[in-house]
Amino acid sequence: MPETLIAMEAICKDYEQSVGSPTRVLKNIDLMINEGEFVAIMGPSGSGKSTLMNLLGTLDRPTSGTYMLIGEDIKDYNERGLAEIRNKTIGFVFQGFNLLARRSIIENIALPLRYAGMNTKDSLAQAEIFLEKVGLSSHRDYLPTQLSGGQQQRVAIARALAPRPQILFADEPTGNLDARTGTAIMDLLFSRQADTGAT
Ligand code: ADP
Ligand code: MG
Repeated sequence: MPETLIAMEAICKDYEQSVGSPTRVLKNIDLMINEGEFVAIMGPSGSGKSTLMNLLGTLDRPTSGTYMLIGEDIKDYNERGLAEIRNKTIGFVFQGFNLLARRSIIENIALPLRYAGMNTKDSLAQAEIFLEKVGLSSHRDYLPTQLSGGQQQRVAIARALAPRPQILFADEPTGNLDARTGTAIMDLLFSRQADTGAT
């Protein structure tokens, strides 16, 4: 039996509004994801995909319902505890790449590893490995602005995978890309997922 990494039950999320009663964006979401699964959640703009990803990634808390992440009820954790779980187990590819504009590609991948406690030499070595995995070794010293959208997304994926997270979340990873580049990015995500075992 594969381990259940994510188990949401009757999750609701309300957003306060400046006037009137809060709006319920997520209504009774039940979701179960097992180790090694590759899951896509699809829906039109405004349907709550980013809201759900923020909850799944513990960047935000539900208004009601239960969320068990790797067997732990997130209610039992304060912000610091959640940040620790997040840093240890979760990688994010946010909408719009979010690369550091003044840092080279290799530094963009290496810096989070340094923050996680790796020394400079090891973080650079690990960054090189993941840059290679996304086919951009020849661009290691470029700045993000010198890359195409598809290449920037590859860097964002390498950065998210380099700490070897157990779970990887990607918010509309092909949203800012043309159809062909988007297909290539999905292929990359599939192959890297198979390769790293990330859920
Ligand atoms: P999607 O990612 O599917 O486009 P979102 O999760 O971003 O959808 O948004 C879902 C709904 O929640 C939208 O109606 C949006 O306006 C609303 N919403 C999102 N974030 C906030 C927020 N911080 N405060 C208030 N409303 C929000
Ligand atoms: Mg969104």
